[in-house]
Amino acid sequence: MKFTERLKAGTKVYSFEFYPPKTAEDTARLFNTALELKALSPDFVSVTNSSSGVTPYRTVALCGVLKAQFGLDVVAHLTCLAHTRAEIAEICDGLKKMDITNILALRGDAHNVASGALRRDYDHASQLIADLKQTGGFSIGGACYPEKHPEAASLEADISRVKEKVDAGAEYLITQLFFDNAFYFRFLEKAAAAGVSVPVLPGLMPITGYKQMQNFTKLMQVSVPAALRAGIERWDGDKDGMFKFSVEYASAQAQELLKGGAPGLHLYTLNRSRAAIAILKNVKAAL
Ligand code: FAD
Repeated sequence: MKFTERLKAGTKVYSFEFYPPKTAEDTARLFNTALELKALSPDFVSVTNSSSGVTPYRTVALCGVLKAQFGLDVVAHLTCLAHTRAEIAEICDGLKKMDITNILALRGDAHNVASGALRRDYDHASQLIADLKQTGGFSIGGACYPEKHPEAASLEADISRVKEKVDAGAEYLITQLFFDNAFYFRFLEKAAAAGVSVPVLPGLMPITGYKQMQNFTKLMQVSVPAALRAGIERWDGDKDGMFKFSVEYASAQAQELLKGGAPGLHLYTLNRSRAAIAILKNVKAAL
């Protein structure tokens, strides 16, 4: 059964996110990670795509390898801000040739895009989703932001844009990472009230250091609860202590989400397996 059908049927879905590595050493590490995570039978893995528009085929190629060589079900991220419609059609052909029929359709962030390459045919993800739907043959997902997208004027305004993505053809949504489950549950409530009825997979990431927390929270504008901040400050510089704390925090977050009705979990792995394995084992043991 396809993971989108499992989502619709209410079966919990577990997935891992990777990014295309740049060096031979990083590639070897990612393949090792993929092998280790495959042992946990994920419903899918996803591969990010740079919004620069310069390297879309790195994502296509990695998706192909993960599917053909590792036997994983794969979702390709596809950003549109730096592409023309013709380029998007070409990338989609490449994905179909690799038998990749799942796309997470995204706008992408402008700060990675050379100004001449910006907004050539697309301003928003909903336009890409509409094109993919018209092309046919793809299961399409979209992104959402429990604390609102940083550019949106309000959560309500952002959710009305999310509704446009669902109306255009997004069958499920994956959230930006967050550290306070109250934001996820509030988002679900408001999205349902606005008519969004597709499954919303929560995206979780274990924080592995103080600097990393600062970078992510600044870039993505997500809140850090006092207990998480205190733990990260307490364990900064102690690798084992930080790992243990971080896995415990994310595992507790995951368990509460699943208990509260989340349709599964999407783990941002940063191409490493140790924390993802530990979290999923904790979660499955508590089910
Ligand atoms: P959109 O849905 O287009 O929304 C962007 C902003 O525009 C929002 O503020 C929205 O409210 C507003 N908006 C939407 N439609 C309209 C409209 N019609 N009129 C006016 N305003 C509108 N980035 C990458 O570069 N590569 C990746 O692989 C990647 N993967 C991601 C995976 C997940 C699960 C998530 C949550 C994000 C990911 N991102 C990735 C980041 C994403 O590209 C950025 O957050 C980007 O700024 C917004 O993308 P989007 O698809 O949500 O855009």
